[in-house]
Amino acid sequence: MQIPVTKTTTPKSRPPEAELGFGKFFSDHLFSTTYTPDQGWHDAKVVPYGPLVMDPAAGVFHYGQAMFEGSKVFRGKDGALQLFRPEAHAHRMAMGAPRLSMMCPSEEQMLAGMHALARADADWVPHAPGTALYLRPTLVATEAFLGVRPATAFLFFIIASPVGSYYGGSGLKSVRIWVETNDVRAPKGGLGATKAGANYAASLHAAQAAKKQGFDQVLWLDGKDHEFIEEVGTMNLFVVIGGKLLTPPLSDSILAGVTRDSVIQLARSQGLVVEERPVSIKEVRAAAQSGTLTEIFGTGTAAVISPVGELAFAGGEKLIVNQGKPGPISLSLFETISGIQRSTVADPHRWMVPVK
Ligand SMILES: *Cc1c(COP(=O)(O)O)cnc(C)c1O
Repeated sequence: MQIPVTKTTTPKSRPPEAELGFGKFFSDHLFSTTYTPDQGWHDAKVVPYGPLVMDPAAGVFHYGQAMFEGSKVFRGKDGALQLFRPEAHAHRMAMGAPRLSMMCPSEEQMLAGMHALARADADWVPHAPGTALYLRPTLVATEAFLGVRPATAFLFFIIASPVGSYYGGSGLKSVRIWVETNDVRAPKGGLGATKAGANYAASLHAAQAAKKQGFDQVLWLDGKDHEFIEEVGTMNLFVVIGGKLLTPPLSDSILAGVTRDSVIQLARSQGLVVEERPVSIKEVRAAAQSGTLTEIFGTGTAAVISPVGELAFAGGEKLIVNQGKPGPISLSLFETISGIQRSTVADPHRWMVPVK
């Protein structure tokens, strides 16, 4: 299927690569496709970036049927453009949509959209190491009605944002984390395994409070007993105890991160023991006291690896990890994944997909 492209007649000026940050600038085009019950998914196209026109009664505004993805296009050291595991992102959206009672384009259609937009905005993929063009596929309910039921009309679109190196030029930085024992990001039986906007809405209050106290993000515990670790901010969570890499098993309250999966595959291929099993905050505390806790880090598309240097608990207790500095496993995983993305390191898992 040929996707028609309408090129912008008013291209924006490119921001300097040193000032990209994350999600501040948007490229010249977007991809969109529309679902109606009688036509199915249709009208796939690349058009100039601009406002969407939607009915104020559209389902997304009232009943929150909305979800998104986040993946990146990289410029390899030879200049060629490559996506990192795009099929894993398309698959996750296809898996999540039914939980939100939403129709979703096929994985092939979503992938075709990602390639089409990456092609149209190829010049927007920055060059400096660690930079990328971040793609944000988004699915929203557009049918205009009031009365609670699933919508029957949807819009899927992809926008693109050139993003800087998460850590600037200075290498990995550790973050300070507040252990949240009041708010819950995602309960058992909830939407936690989907990239629903609603999960983010649920997380903002605690994250904001933590920031006010000088922390970077919160550690989410299970929604029932606040006993088991789940995620950190909007990242999956890994703990190194006794040389083993531990991470909570996937469940309906944990998002199946593509970076999480990549870290597990890489670590195992390097001979590290990885255990996907429940990890209690008690176990983490005991390991810290006995000296076997050596690293904690989060994983996600934006930062790849985000080392945790400190856990702070209500009541004043503090737990310092690896003297507050990034540890060797965090550093090595970061170097390897970033290298694969830049094609300076071999890609035995064939994670990079050339933009075509
Ligand atoms: C997006 C996200 C992640 C990370 O997923 P990646 O595919 O690695 O980017 C982890 N946790 C939550 C809650 C997320 O929304």
